[in-house]
Amino acid sequence: ASNKADGAGGNDAQQEASKTLAVYMEIAAKNEVVVVATERAKNVNILEGARVGIMGKPCAEFVAGMWGTWLSGAVAVPLALNHPEAELLHVLSDAGVSIVLATEDYRDLLEPVVKKCCARLYLLPSATSFHSNLSNTQEHGLLSIEQMEREIQKVSSIIRGEQAALIIYTSGTTGKPKGVVHTHASIGAQVKMLAKAWEYSPKDRFLHCLPLHHVHGLVNILLAPLFVGATVEFLPKFSTQQVWRRWQESYSNPETPANDAVTVFSGVPTIYARLLQAYELMDGDFQKSCSLAAKNLRLMMCGSSALPQPVMEKWEKVTSHRLLERYGMTEFGMGLSNPLHGDRKPGFVGEPLPGVEVLIVDDEGTATGVGNLCIRSPGMFSEYWNLPQVTEKSFTEDGFFETGDTVTKEGGYYKILGRTSVDIIKSGGYKISSLEIEAVLLQHPVIAECAILGVPDNDYGEIISAIIVPHEAAAEAAAAKWEPVLTLQALREWARPLLASYKIPQHLLVWKFLPRNAMGKVNKKDLRTSILRGLP
Ligand code: ATP
Ligand code: MG
Repeated sequence: ASNKADGAGGNDAQQEASKTLAVYMEIAAKNEVVVVATERAKNVNILEGARVGIMGKPCAEFVAGMWGTWLSGAVAVPLALNHPEAELLHVLSDAGVSIVLATEDYRDLLEPVVKKCCARLYLLPSATSFHSNLSNTQEHGLLSIEQMEREIQKVSSIIRGEQAALIIYTSGTTGKPKGVVHTHASIGAQVKMLAKAWEYSPKDRFLHCLPLHHVHGLVNILLAPLFVGATVEFLPKFSTQQVWRRWQESYSNPETPANDAVTVFSGVPTIYARLLQAYELMDGDFQKSCSLAAKNLRLMMCGSSALPQPVMEKWEKVTSHRLLERYGMTEFGMGLSNPLHGDRKPGFVGEPLPGVEVLIVDDEGTATGVGNLCIRSPGMFSEYWNLPQVTEKSFTEDGFFETGDTVTKEGGYYKILGRTSVDIIKSGGYKISSLEIEAVLLQHPVIAECAILGVPDNDYGEIISAIIVPHEAAAEAAAAKWEPVLTLQALREWARPLLASYKIPQHLLVWKFLPRNAMGKVNKKDLRTSILRGLP
């Protein structure tokens, strides 16, 4: 099996990667914050090939830390902000991180952890401390634009396409997070693919409120926009109010948008669900102006996990935007996307992005209509860090990466049925998509969130178990009457006209919340273990 991405090797790719990096350096040269912090990052003496952890809320300093790392020929390892110490330690020691660059607010958290793995901690200079007096960088003994340009020349000849640029850890939805190694060539290919497909331009302004340790936040809406010279505005912490207010300010007068009007937004499904919940609570006038304003954005995208159809439909009613849903993975970035222009089909993730090749393979390895999705792409990672055997096993002989997701195709558009290992329930001879059932249950007036799982059963192989989180108001109303908010029997009756009988849940749990990770994903493997303990 080969793990070398086609198109990622060779001289062309190398030149392309250097060009991408040169563009980044050009951006750095124009932004004082980045110039200063990049210089500082360089001064901490990072060795070529070293792994450098970077930790901070989405901010310019983070970007600077990454640039500085690349300028030194080292590998950036973006760190999750909300991991418990044990997981953080796992990532730091697994990647062999020797230096951590962080913003001041993570000093206390990091100092003891970094000591434990014998790494060094450096604080990135804060943007505000030098923002005010940086009109002339030379005066302050910093790198001038001219010096930076010389630096760009140097870098273009030093950085090679096949050199590792990033180790991004997967979300850990199906097990321990794996370190995915991307080269400058694979990142460059992803960035160009997206900028072209979604027509990013220097006129765009992205409102960014996703973590930077996954490709969605890092590549789709940071590196790709910066590559074309668009502006990225960070909202360090997601807040429904701030997002709505920012859109509303941008287009309070839709005839004359504000100079700094937001044009592009991208989120995970839970973000859109939360924005809708907040919308419901607004007073009528504010609702109206928010709806009108949101309509004016150029593009709204969604991904990282399945977008439930009810959320998509409500969103379209409120903002007139049909969300552009796309599908991707840490391992290759984005693979399938609904079109920017043309029909965006609810429940589908569109077609392969230009340059991406797709195969659907069944359990026997033959090409069929339903089965495992395999992908070949110039954006493909080079290896799982420290896991050569897993890397080897993940690719077919022709260099196709096996995603572990089950998909089907209708009328040219792909539909994600779920992860083969946890979302495809095998019950009484049927293969059932838990995502499909989840989308239906979300139409129930009482259900705010849900997760469908297969649990072992002697007769059927597996039976369908539903965990639901009721809307707060519904839960309170039921509690006041000393009644259960929803019973299995009532749910089954309600679902009968909507689902084939073998898809109707046979087991129901009502929870206060669903445990989700930083990307809003539910770890179904853990969930299954914990509900099995409680099952009769
Ligand atoms: P781990 O590999 O550690 O288990 P993970 O697979 O969740 O975690 P990511 O690489 O962040 O880590 O996520 C990729 C997965 O997200 C895909 O394999 C797919 O299951 C899911 N996904 C992404 N976009 C979509 C989408 N639009 N619809 C459905 N699923 C999606
Ligand atoms: Mg995965």
